[in-house]
Amino acid sequence: MSQGKCISDEIKMPQLYGVYLLRSLRKKNSFYIGSTPDPYRRLRQHNGELTRGGAYRTKRNGFRPWKMVLFVYGFPSNVSALQFEHAWQHAYQTRHIPVCKRRHNGKRHTGSGTSVDEKLANCRLLLCSDSFKRLGIQIAVFDKEIYQVWIKNKFHILIPDYVHMNIRIEDLHTEEDKDDNDACFIKGGNYLQIKQFKESVYASEEELKSDSIAKTKMSNMTNSCSICAKEIDQKLDLVVYCIYKDCLATYDLKCWAQSMLNEKQLNEENNEKQKQSSIKPIIPIRGHCLKCKRVNFWNTVIRNALHVKDELQSTQSSQLDE
Ligand SMILES: [Zn+2]
Ligand SMILES: [Zn+2]
Repeated sequence: MSQGKCISDEIKMPQLYGVYLLRSLRKKNSFYIGSTPDPYRRLRQHNGELTRGGAYRTKRNGFRPWKMVLFVYGFPSNVSALQFEHAWQHAYQTRHIPVCKRRHNGKRHTGSGTSVDEKLANCRLLLCSDSFKRLGIQIAVFDKEIYQVWIKNKFHILIPDYVHMNIRIEDLHTEEDKDDNDACFIKGGNYLQIKQFKESVYASEEELKSDSIAKTKMSNMTNSCSICAKEIDQKLDLVVYCIYKDCLATYDLKCWAQSMLNEKQLNEENNEKQKQSSIKPIIPIRGHCLKCKRVNFWNTVIRNALHVKDELQSTQSSQLDE
């Protein structure tokens, strides 16, 4: 889906929309795959509220508490996250995984896989599928056992080296978790872990955004492109920033995208299909900043540029109101 699509179609991205894997702590072979813009709220919903009288609402009796063990995120749009969710739930028949690579080959119709090894294998297969491999997707893992299964990689499915894994397996749901457990939610869910994960993603995006805004302010609110040297009109074009704090490089979207795409070794996997196909990808995965020579990931660059644009626009409009 990243091929033949316009860059501007890809840049309306929400915050932290992702696909999660839940594991029942009472029935360890029971899993659930879903998607959400807010993993913390969603986990709480899955584990249900207690009524005032203290009785459980017994949805899916016997499975709770659920633990969120994996979260796949960094999708460029809700639609793309929903596609991933659906493909993972129906891994035995999804068009995103070639028939020869499927873990079931149609023998059993068992959704996302019968064992935890198969479930994670299907997730890996999707991460290296043509549809999802260029999107800058990341994975967070919250459970030691799941992490070990992931690392063991029983079916030897290699994912691209740029798929970043955020390992957050310390067991946090102990006493500190009181706030979240008290009165409302079933004990045992890893609420604190997920809350801290969510906050850490937001905090790092927030920091990047304020660094970038500071760079724009330093240049008197005018940004010029470090490639074509033209001044970038914020109303017509998206200003994109090198993500490193000490580097002042800014680019217009098209110049940097093109420059990154020209770095073939970072963006192409030399596969035969790609060579035969006349369609060239128009969205890069990653590339170097031409000033500081460090690697930037396109997905991070775009998310940040959109956050900065939003913030600058809202401060401008509130200044006008005054
Ligand atoms: Zn330019
Ligand atoms: Zn730079």
